[in-house]
Amino acid sequence: MHPDPLDLIRQGYAALDAWEAGFGAVEAHPSLGVDADRLGAAVEEYLGRLTAPPRGETPGMYPFGHPRYAGQMLKPPHPVALAAYAIAARINPNNHALDGGPPTSEMEKEVVAGLAAMFGFASPLGHLTGGGTVANLEALFIAREETGGKAVAVSREGHFTHARMAGVLDVDCAVVASDDAGRMDLDALEDVLRRGDVGTVVLTAATTGLGAVDPIAEAIPLCRRYGARVHVDAAYGGFFRLLADAADAPVGFPAEHFRAIAEADSVVVDPHKHGLQPYGCGAVLFADPAVGRHYRHDSPYTYFTSTDLHLGEISLECSRPGAAAGALWLTLKALPLASDDGLGPILAAGLRAARAFYGEVRASEHLAPILAPETDIVVYAPEADTLDRLDARSAAVFQQAMDDPDDPVFVGLYRLGADRLRRRFPALGGDAPAARVLRSVLMKPEHEAWATRLVARLDGLAGPLGG
Ligand SMILES: *Cc1c(COP(=O)(O)O)cnc(C)c1O
Repeated sequence: MHPDPLDLIRQGYAALDAWEAGFGAVEAHPSLGVDADRLGAAVEEYLGRLTAPPRGETPGMYPFGHPRYAGQMLKPPHPVALAAYAIAARINPNNHALDGGPPTSEMEKEVVAGLAAMFGFASPLGHLTGGGTVANLEALFIAREETGGKAVAVSREGHFTHARMAGVLDVDCAVVASDDAGRMDLDALEDVLRRGDVGTVVLTAATTGLGAVDPIAEAIPLCRRYGARVHVDAAYGGFFRLLADAADAPVGFPAEHFRAIAEADSVVVDPHKHGLQPYGCGAVLFADPAVGRHYRHDSPYTYFTSTDLHLGEISLECSRPGAAAGALWLTLKALPLASDDGLGPILAAGLRAARAFYGEVRASEHLAPILAPETDIVVYAPEADTLDRLDARSAAVFQQAMDDPDDPVFVGLYRLGADRLRRRFPALGGDAPAARVLRSVLMKPEHEAWATRLVARLDGLAGPLGG
């Protein structure tokens, strides 16, 4: 069935009404009342702004939930997550400490255990975070403590947050070259490891730009030979681990590298990217629970009702939404972490959508793929004879596809260096240092049925453009 979130919220609010009634009736305080006319006008403006068309001088909202939208890594939460969040948010539990909301803290421990089991971490330590950035910061903070402040190495295609957070943590950050597929180059990694000052290597599964997966299965033994810690940034792609044991993995899906995450020291995954959650839900997991000692602190304000592990004791963030834990918990009850049930088939449809999209681009008249997708992101280019014209045409297709009021298609732009582009399109002339190409994130299962139609529309625009 396709649940109606309003039905679930009504059911939840009725249960909360009954629960609250048990404490005795409370009159709403007059100070909390609102002027009906003022509210009416404000709500009208609010809804008007949220539903303004994406064209015009001040861009309105893009339709992230519609298959026409294949731009960035954005999609609405599942109705179950939305309802669970709305229900718990009425109470507003704070998972900073167990007494900020015992049930949602328990749910957090349960979902963290589920995520850890997905990656194959046997006795992990971990918690939810506000997102992938903070989750990665925590992993690098623990790495700094464990390695005595040695440098971090990350591929050129890794998320920019790692270099920035290395700066925050005051450790050096070495950038490792990547290959044309966007994966870390292992020879370049070994060169960096040989220097002897790198304590932690960040591997990415999958990259935010190309959806590429670093060669984790080979990189981890290499890192171990040099005594380096391994952190896997699977903020975007972590949930694809569910598909790594399936017999019928799609073409090009690097199952062995997802399986190898089990050998890492820490991993980050964002339930608010592929886990169907509203924003505000990342997760960090550590293979060795003993690293919890680095978080040690005393708070005079909070921990007073339990001697059990407080999530606030193993987190850099203090207040965190218990509603986020509740939403993820209910979602994973309804859509379990499995390959053939729940989340697995949703992710598998995205992988198939990307392969269908890639196939259509290859077969199209005026578009060409840059590389075959490993996960669910496709990068492709309109035909052009020079770097400047490629850049201008990509921008024009992007804009015209979005601006058509009758048949809009939303894609993204991605900048690639001239050398990389010339290795793919040797005839490309011009001396610009880089050019933008087109990029689509096929992260909704509905994209599978829309791939042909989306590419046909983009191909039509790529063709007749002048210049
Ligand atoms: C999205 C992303 C991040 C940052 O996570 P946020 O949830 O946006 O803070 C880090 N690394 C990768 C690979 C990502 O895709």
